[in-house]
Amino acid sequence: MRKTIVAGNWKMNASKESVNSLIKGILSGMSDVSSDVIVCAPFPYLSQVESLIINSDLMLGAQNLNVNLKGAFTGEVSADMIKDFGAQHVIVGHSERRSLYGETSTVVAEKTKAAIDAGLTPLLCVGESLEERESGRTEAVVAEQLNAVISLLGIDAFDGIIIAYEPVWAIGTGLTASPEQAQSVHLFIRKLLADSSERVAQKTPILYGGSMNAGNAADLISCADIDGGLIGGAALKADDFLQICKAG
Ligand code: PEP
Repeated sequence: MRKTIVAGNWKMNASKESVNSLIKGILSGMSDVSSDVIVCAPFPYLSQVESLIINSDLMLGAQNLNVNLKGAFTGEVSADMIKDFGAQHVIVGHSERRSLYGETSTVVAEKTKAAIDAGLTPLLCVGESLEERESGRTEAVVAEQLNAVISLLGIDAFDGIIIAYEPVWAIGTGLTASPEQAQSVHLFIRKLLADSSERVAQKTPILYGGSMNAGNAADLISCADIDGGLIGGAALKADDFLQICKAG
């Protein structure tokens, strides 16, 4: 039985004040939540969140990492630095990083490796654009993104990976995939993993992301192969985020 996981991706939205009230708001409602809950904060706020969540069940993640361990990489942040601030998770392969910063599936696989090597759990994002969906290439695109990681790391690496299926056309647009559309891709992903290992396929959490909110979360999470959500906009309001956390 896979546990429901809900992760918030704050993207580049935070201030010391907003982080304080958002985390305090989430913590105040956590006693009714049975899902695992992760907040992925921008780098400068990791330390603040780390202090606020001490002795709670809330977990911390970052939104990106550099593939290198240390050295002359001005402006970059390593997996060890992320761990140093109490984070256990890191998002890799978010569509904004793939499209705005040119991260190929090979780079995403290398980042996944860097995270795992450091003891972090990657939240590996995959998903197709609207054009790719409309031209019938959803499964081919998602397969290419996953196979890059399987080729580099092997199937057993997925013991330490959380997958997030995020159709690009649904991210930040208010256009949520229907439960049927999402379930169909989630099942495809599980079958792709099962081609290499049935055990890994049954164990790996596959979250849905893309305009998930308090109103649609329960219908999505109740699908057989949807194990939770990766939440952008709705993760910035404690009440909305908590409602999603309680939907699992
Ligand atoms: C995301 O950025 O991962 C995301 C799912 O965003 P939103 O919920 O705002 O669509």
